[in-house]
Amino acid sequence: MSGEMTQGCPPTPEARAAQRARTLARPGLEAVRVKGRLRANKWLLLRRITQLGILALFLAGPWFGWWIVKGNLSSSLTLGVLPLTDPYLLAQSLAAGHVPYKDALLGGAIVLAFYLLFGGRLFCAWVCPVNLVTDAAAWLRRRLGIKGGKTPSAWTRYWLLGFTLVASAATGSIAWEWVNPVSMLHRGLIFGFGLAWGIVLAVFLYDLLFASRGWCGHVCPVGAFYGLLGKTALIRVTADQRRACDDCMDCFAVCPEPQVIRPALKAVGQAHPLILDKDCTSCGRCIDVCGKDVFRLTTRFDRSES
Ligand code: SF4
Ligand code: SF4
Repeated sequence: MSGEMTQGCPPTPEARAAQRARTLARPGLEAVRVKGRLRANKWLLLRRITQLGILALFLAGPWFGWWIVKGNLSSSLTLGVLPLTDPYLLAQSLAAGHVPYKDALLGGAIVLAFYLLFGGRLFCAWVCPVNLVTDAAAWLRRRLGIKGGKTPSAWTRYWLLGFTLVASAATGSIAWEWVNPVSMLHRGLIFGFGLAWGIVLAVFLYDLLFASRGWCGHVCPVGAFYGLLGKTALIRVTADQRRACDDCMDCFAVCPEPQVIRPALKAVGQAHPLILDKDCTSCGRCIDVCGKDVFRLTTRFDRSES
């Protein structure tokens, strides 16, 4: 990506515009050249293995009779002893006036503690199956050079989050579950698709044609909920090698929440290089695609800079 940026000779505006267009279409080319294809996709591969591995654990029971995990992403029991419950589902359930079982409350507490500690939006990058769909839409949108559309305000997801809780209280039901693409896709894979196909396809087409990273970055209340849990998270990405940055913009092109990068990379509103924004999903994609190895994974206490 930096082939036209020779030292001591700043690129012309035309060269920058051409470079930007190439970056938007195929970010990470320089990283592949410098680090090799495997290292330039390390975190992406680890995430896909994790996401598909978790899906496989859920599918192994209904498909092959290997009941390691029973249930689905909303509520499950692992090896007959470990209950896990989606705390957002639990919050809607409580708002609806239902009294959850003791195991469901315990499962919610375990999941809540995990994401509070390690980062709420880890769920988005490492667990949620819809992430595969929205990543595919973002990839295709870049490749096809689709621009424009109308991206809703980033606040939409928080309004929707509040609305689902109020709607649950008003209707006495778990409101978002009627249309939630996350559980629909998960249940569709386990029990066979019906309406789920339509919902998942709608999310894909929405991100592809109407709003870049629209669903996860602006609409989904599940992501908003887990984002709120991520404020105090331990795991963080740092741009501690930011002096090596050549402004190729590859990290901005691949990041599902690109607004989180600038404060750390460009020292805007903060001096340290840590990405502390709650919306960072810790996907590691910025680490992968950076040919200068500007980013790495660390903890929130590591404010060092090289
Ligand atoms: S924002 Fe919603 S759909 Fe997107 S990855 Fe997160 S939970 Fe899944
Ligand atoms: S800053 Fe990096 S780790 Fe965080 S969401 Fe963006 S690409 Fe993923």
